[in-house]
Amino acid sequence: MSGISNLVHDIRGVVNRERKELEDFLEQLMNRLYLIDGAIEESNESNRTIHECHHRLEEDIEEQACNIESQARVATDLGQLKLLVQDRVDTIRSHMEAYRSQEEELIQAAEEKTEQLVQRLNELEAETEELRQKVSTHSLQAFTDTLTGIPNRYAYEERLNQEYSRWKRYHQPLSLMIVDIDNFKHINDKYGHRAGDKALRIIANQLQKMIRETDLIARYGGDEFVLLLPETTSKGAMRIAEKLLDAIENHAFHFRKKKVTITISCGISDFREGDSPADVFERADQALYRSKHRGRNQSHYG
Ligand code: GH3
Ligand code: MG
Repeated sequence: MSGISNLVHDIRGVVNRERKELEDFLEQLMNRLYLIDGAIEESNESNRTIHECHHRLEEDIEEQACNIESQARVATDLGQLKLLVQDRVDTIRSHMEAYRSQEEELIQAAEEKTEQLVQRLNELEAETEELRQKVSTHSLQAFTDTLTGIPNRYAYEERLNQEYSRWKRYHQPLSLMIVDIDNFKHINDKYGHRAGDKALRIIANQLQKMIRETDLIARYGGDEFVLLLPETTSKGAMRIAEKLLDAIENHAFHFRKKKVTITISCGISDFREGDSPADVFERADQALYRSKHRGRNQSHYG
């Protein structure tokens, strides 16, 4: 029992570490988004500067044109007028050149900023993807029993909370079954622990294959499994138990080239008015005890 609570404690540790990692990342992400926001603001600023320069140039040209116009009106000879126009045109040209080089500088700076922004965004995207994968592998690991690959006790507890809340709200049938391998110590003692492990894996996967996708099977600990069967009455659960008993009894286990029969026993109960999950588990456990006491390879309801 203490082994199991240690396991649940360890898994909680993994999940909490993962949560911390995620929080740190989100904080980092927020900081970077602030930086990117700042860079966008700067780039808007340089766009505004370009716009202002452009506006100033237009005003300048307009002023020079007015100048030419007024001087032309008062000019008395053509030679003087030609010189005047030439002078104004030169001024406009030099202003144009200054404007162009300033505009080029600003455009180049804006382009560099944009490139930096794109690079930062790409980095962020890659980091987010990496973290997403890490989180999904970690949570998968935290909810999986390493030996059998089926959900572990922690996954069961999480799911039990959900199903229990749903049951309290909608009162649809919800059954719980405990499955325990018969005389499993004997398998270990006779064929070794590794053979025992292999049998555990086979049984877990066989049981999992036989239930609905909406049901849950978890390794509760040792050679004991727990099943949560939503939308299933006790009668339905009894029928499922018969199927499971039959499948395991008839599975061809071979140890040292010898055919060995393994059986399981089941205890079933269902959620009733006023029940806590512990009440249901306790009744199912009592029912399992009856199955063991009355000869094993059978199921009882309590
Ligand atoms: P019963 O019919 O009363 O259930 O008898 P049993 O021998 O199965 O007794 P019990 O369920 O109390 O003991 C479970 C045994 O399962 C104890 C241990 O030898 C074995 N076991 C528990 N976990 C593992 C495991 O991870 N691998 C292996 N190989 N054996 C395990
Ligand atoms: Mg057992």
